[in-house]
Amino acid sequence: MELFELNLRDAAEGVRTKKFSALELFDACFARAASCEPKLAALITPTEEEGRRGAEEIDARIARGEDVGPLGGVPVVLKDNLCTKGVRTTAASKILGDWRPPYDATVWSLLQGAGAVLLGKANMDEFAMGNTCGNSAFGPSKNPWDVTHVPGGSSGGSAAAVAAAYAPCALGSDTGGSIRQPASYCGVYGLKPTYGMVSRYGVISYGSSLDQVGPLARTVSDLQLAMAILVHYDPMDSSSVPGKSFDFTPHKMDLKGKRVALVKEFQAFTLEAPIADAMARVRRLLENAGAEILEVGLPTVARYAVSCYYALAMSEAHTNLERYDGIRYGYTVDDAVGSKEMFEAVRSAGFGSEVKSRIIAGTCLTEPTRCNEYYVAATKVRTLIAREFAKAFESADFILQPVTPLLAPKIGETDRDKMKGYESDLYTLPVNLAGLPGLSFFVEHAASGLPVGLQLIGARWSDPDLLNAGLTLEECLGSPSIARGGL
Ligand code: GLN
Repeated sequence: MELFELNLRDAAEGVRTKKFSALELFDACFARAASCEPKLAALITPTEEEGRRGAEEIDARIARGEDVGPLGGVPVVLKDNLCTKGVRTTAASKILGDWRPPYDATVWSLLQGAGAVLLGKANMDEFAMGNTCGNSAFGPSKNPWDVTHVPGGSSGGSAAAVAAAYAPCALGSDTGGSIRQPASYCGVYGLKPTYGMVSRYGVISYGSSLDQVGPLARTVSDLQLAMAILVHYDPMDSSSVPGKSFDFTPHKMDLKGKRVALVKEFQAFTLEAPIADAMARVRRLLENAGAEILEVGLPTVARYAVSCYYALAMSEAHTNLERYDGIRYGYTVDDAVGSKEMFEAVRSAGFGSEVKSRIIAGTCLTEPTRCNEYYVAATKVRTLIAREFAKAFESADFILQPVTPLLAPKIGETDRDKMKGYESDLYTLPVNLAGLPGLSFFVEHAASGLPVGLQLIGARWSDPDLLNAGLTLEECLGSPSIARGGL
């Protein structure tokens, strides 16, 4: 086995027990990334120098007999909307130019504190808006199982990097599906944690009431290891919830007697055949394991979640993106005559077309004469959606549903119909509206070779249980393999 193929726990263990050095591990992973990058474009900024320096430090500490932490010397990939002190952070936008944040996102401080080293900043849809990774100012990333297909988005680079084994773990962010959907397109695991569990400090905001950071990895137990480090009350993030403690130690869950719900209204929606097959297979598996399968009704979710989400996400985005004015960050122009001309010139050239159209939509949705009819109405619908889920979780322990109605589409295929693209987030975005945890898990490969994943959703704060159920599913279904074909 090559060093880059190791999962998170084994890589950390190998460094700790001196089977190999942190530098050897980093160089093996970086060489793997370098050989795949021309085909995958999963990274915006590879960080060879920072990573090697970090690995050398870990090796020096090990030589001095120091404890290097649970991730000591393990390379990780971070989505490029997570601030890294002194390392270019772009959110895949031209408008941030060569911006180097003066501080680290809390999630990165926590991983560094646990000994992780940085392999690179991952490609994504600009400001996390999209679901193909095609909205990146740096060009699209590709699916490692078939480079003519999208890796998903917006954390497409993070998912592709883990699937192709640049690193055993990456962080993504999920506002409406951006961890879970690329995880399923690329055949890895991805967790969107309960809102308020993981700090958003230093995460470039898209929709602040929806954004949540989470890990992607090739085993569920690696997600658990990452979560044990990432979950931390952060006074720097007002949405971080204090006074809670969680145990992310892996314990396979006995599924006997667990109540797993399917959503009644979703049964009428069409799924691509391999996804429908996977739903049937996992349902049988759960039944065989003694779980009770039931139905819950989520009528408001099925009917209004997509419009509710996009109204809120665009409204929040338009305020969050006001700060990019050419004065405080990155890209600027020198020849504007006044501030208004300058803002106009910077924002017209600095933002990509999807971001601009969402800013304009958000401006309209929150404009004083329409605000009640759109933005305020959407916040009310959101409350109904959260209540609908809360009620469902009175009778169910988990909800099983698809991540997407389609397997990873061909690059460019979904660009033609924007509304269809938005609607394909139907299965992921309700989870963000209600602040719930959602696990995207690998099921199998379709005949085409593309991976098929499904989603298990839990009640708020049930993330440890959700992952333990995921462990059992992984044992029954098998762990994902590394994407190699042609890479
Ligand atoms: N596809 C959704 C959007 O474009 C979700 C993106 C995300 O989760 N960041 O808003």
